[in-house]
Amino acid sequence: MADAMPKERRVLVVEDVEPLAFLMTNLLRNQGYAVEVAGDGEACMQQLRTFAPDLIILDIMLPRAHGIDVLKRLRENEKTRRLGVIVCTAKTFKPDLDQIRALGVTEIIVKPFEKEVFLRTVGRFFGQTGDLGQEKLAAEKADAESQPYLPQISPATNFIRFWGTRGSIPVSAARYVRHGGNTSCVVVGRGDESVIIDAGSGIRDAGLELAKAGPQKLHLFITHTHWDHIQGFPFFAPIYIPGFEIAIYGASTFGKDLQSIFRGQLDRDYFPIQFEDMKAKFEFHILGEKPIRIGGLKISWEFTNHPAATVGFKIESARQTVAYVSDNEFLQGHLGSPHRIQPEDPILLRDQKMIGFLKGVDLLIHEAQYTNQEYAQKIGWGHTSLSNACLLASLSGAQRWVVTHHDPMHDDDFLEAKLNLTKEILRSMNCSIAVTHAHDGQIDYF
Ligand SMILES: [Zn+2]
Ligand SMILES: [Zn+2]
Repeated sequence: MADAMPKERRVLVVEDVEPLAFLMTNLLRNQGYAVEVAGDGEACMQQLRTFAPDLIILDIMLPRAHGIDVLKRLRENEKTRRLGVIVCTAKTFKPDLDQIRALGVTEIIVKPFEKEVFLRTVGRFFGQTGDLGQEKLAAEKADAESQPYLPQISPATNFIRFWGTRGSIPVSAARYVRHGGNTSCVVVGRGDESVIIDAGSGIRDAGLELAKAGPQKLHLFITHTHWDHIQGFPFFAPIYIPGFEIAIYGASTFGKDLQSIFRGQLDRDYFPIQFEDMKAKFEFHILGEKPIRIGGLKISWEFTNHPAATVGFKIESARQTVAYVSDNEFLQGHLGSPHRIQPEDPILLRDQKMIGFLKGVDLLIHEAQYTNQEYAQKIGWGHTSLSNACLLASLSGAQRWVVTHHDPMHDDDFLEAKLNLTKEILRSMNCSIAVTHAHDGQIDYF
């Protein structure tokens, strides 16, 4: 490179950050420049006399006389008034840059810089044209790096949205506002397919949302026909909109069939509009042994331990598996601690089918309706005690557990304390499952 340069070109790098000074020195020396480094403003003023540079590359935030001070002193001195200065700074505030330009600096390199941009800027001072392509590439790269990173959830991701997370009966008061007061309803979706589970009062809001997308086929799975799982159905907007097709799936009931139960709750003694007046088309399906496939989702079921023919559902996608078991009295009658119960303990035999059904799911949605104190009074009511639910969650091996079907007696503060207790029990069992409480409106992705 030296013979390409008729005269030695001298550059003084004024930079207090040593690795940066080292980098700039190396870059410049490789191009044939003679380089010296000054570590602060005072050293710079001294080396001006001893080294006599053609160009100064000047940092602004320097110890002992900062860069602006150095610049002013250079411009005030007749000998250095026209000396070339390139400011190399991480400070890009407009008032600072304006002040630097006013002091006769035409080139400013912003740190961190691309090597090509740095060499090109220095080269331009010495009248070299260089490779414009390289500079353009570097500028494009710098531009790309200045773009904000805006991550988004892929539209192909499955979601589950909780529209009602209360058990037994809807509640409404300020003290319930954080969790919400609607009874059971979730919507599981993937792309255009929507699977609804349960028609508690939460289905009213779900219906308003689904109606926005216009007529489509909806699949409504019912865990069982207790009030808190069907009471929102008459207020489900799509049933009044022509073009909607609604397939309703439920287990073979012990008494009246599924269709009669849905018709029955619209009996004129209970409700002003009858089933015949609905505008959507309906199909009723009794759950069989084979899993049901809807879009990319596979839905299977298992009976739970709860009065009436009650089931829980498992929804599998190519990515993950979710289980939704809202009403299940696991380990009925067990009031003791869950700590000494091993997976092969005979006490678990009665619940073996459910344990197997939940084994290996990624996301477990399961109730823990009663505290241990409450459960002692409510054995046989069809719901699990907190510590027994912790044991089932642990046995499932799931990564996450979302607790739903909150008791109407439990307000927000109570539920918060209960969640902390749940975490404490799980910790004491050495179970690392991540537990949260569902609230109305919540969306989880899986
Ligand atoms: Zn229920
Ligand atoms: Zn029930």
